[in-house]
Amino acid sequence: MRAWDIRGLVLDLDNTIVPWHTSDLRPSISAWFAGLVQGGVRGCLLTNNYGKQASVVARALGTPIVLGALKPVPFGYRRSLEHLQIEARHALGVGDQLYTDVLGAKLAGMRAALVQPIGRREFPTTRLMRVFERPVLEHLRRGGMPGA
Ligand SMILES: [Mg+2]
Repeated sequence: MRAWDIRGLVLDLDNTIVPWHTSDLRPSISAWFAGLVQGGVRGCLLTNNYGKQASVVARALGTPIVLGALKPVPFGYRRSLEHLQIEARHALGVGDQLYTDVLGAKLAGMRAALVQPIGRREFPTTRLMRVFERPVLEHLRRGGMPGA
């Protein structure tokens, strides 16, 4: 992140920071995030979710949050950048889904990091989208495209 001059993270919530539809923030995630903040990197949560538990997580982390983001539409990413007060080239989008988190970050001009979902429960449409993610991820694993 230092090499890329990343100053802020736009973080997906469900299955990236907490298990799907919970506010179950694990100590390891809190500690990871606190380390980033200490290193001068800020964070903003960006979620398609509207649930009350989303704001609970934002309060616990001390981050702003953009709800109902309609990812991969860039609007929510722009709101997040305003919260972070950085330009897209200094932001890294982090999430567990290719066609929302990674695509949305790229459409907004950011770098993106795809992470493994931290839980197995998820929205039924998400489960369907995993079917379409699989061939692309296979291609990437074989070195088909440069990372980030
Ligand atoms: Mg997610």
